[in-house]
Amino acid sequence: MRLSTLTKVAAVVAAVVLTATACGGSSPESGDGPPVADAPTFEAGTTMARLAEAGALRVGTKFDQPGFGLQGLDGTPTGFDVEIAKIIAAGLGIAPDGITYTEAPSALREEVLETDRVDIVAATYTINDARKERISFAGPYYEAGQTLMIRSDYTAVTDKESLRASGARVCTVAGSTPEAQIAEFIDPSQLTTFDVYSKCADALRTNQVDVVTTDNVILTGFVADSEGAFKLTGESFTQEPYGIGITKGDVAFCEFINTTLQAAAADGSYAEAWESTAGEISGEPAPELPAAAACS
Ligand code: GLU
Repeated sequence: MRLSTLTKVAAVVAAVVLTATACGGSSPESGDGPPVADAPTFEAGTTMARLAEAGALRVGTKFDQPGFGLQGLDGTPTGFDVEIAKIIAAGLGIAPDGITYTEAPSALREEVLETDRVDIVAATYTINDARKERISFAGPYYEAGQTLMIRSDYTAVTDKESLRASGARVCTVAGSTPEAQIAEFIDPSQLTTFDVYSKCADALRTNQVDVVTTDNVILTGFVADSEGAFKLTGESFTQEPYGIGITKGDVAFCEFINTTLQAAAADGSYAEAWESTAGEISGEPAPELPAAAACS
């Protein structure tokens, strides 16, 4: 009886393995990222054909944002943006070890694409018209919203409406959408900007500023790392649809990325990307992949 149960289990496992190998034209990777497409073919002359042929993808991302792009001791970043980049690479037949990462601080994201230092930017990158003057976006693949982070014992600010009257010192990153959007709620003298958010978090910890403002999911990563020192306050007050930055006008690459993201949503890789990174930090369930915007 016991033996026959084991035999049945073995048969089922064998069948599952066979099915996984036979379907989908992809081979499972060793636990790192989604299944990598097996020698996919693309129309000659496209970005996809060039990248697949090279077997390499250059990704611009953040290096200091826990849950989205945080550089590890080995130099390789981890986070949801990094996993999204792996999904795109996998669709091109490129394994994670074919990806190279370049730090792309908020103000430099367009520039690293324009100067051909990276092929894609996956870096908590809000899609907007000003940026579309210089680059194009695939996606969105996530929707965040701007909010506020304070020291846990700080009571002078509860939401954006109390920023000006309290005289709170506010920190954000130059070239970000939060920098532009917070201007409505503070006097210019209240604002300090850095190139990256970890510098704002350090300034908050050392009492040099009172509030850090940016996207809720970025701040959630800093709160989780703060051992109770920081908390979020107030509602999210903007919509920040995250896109994948690509060279301006590369419509075919944009459409390929959108199709790849939709396939990842369907096969569970998108949810897995979330659950192993930002979702693990926040405890929030994987979001639905937002509907793709038109490529242009
Ligand atoms: N999503 C916003 C932006 O793209 C803020 C986050 C960031 O600076 O990376 O500007």
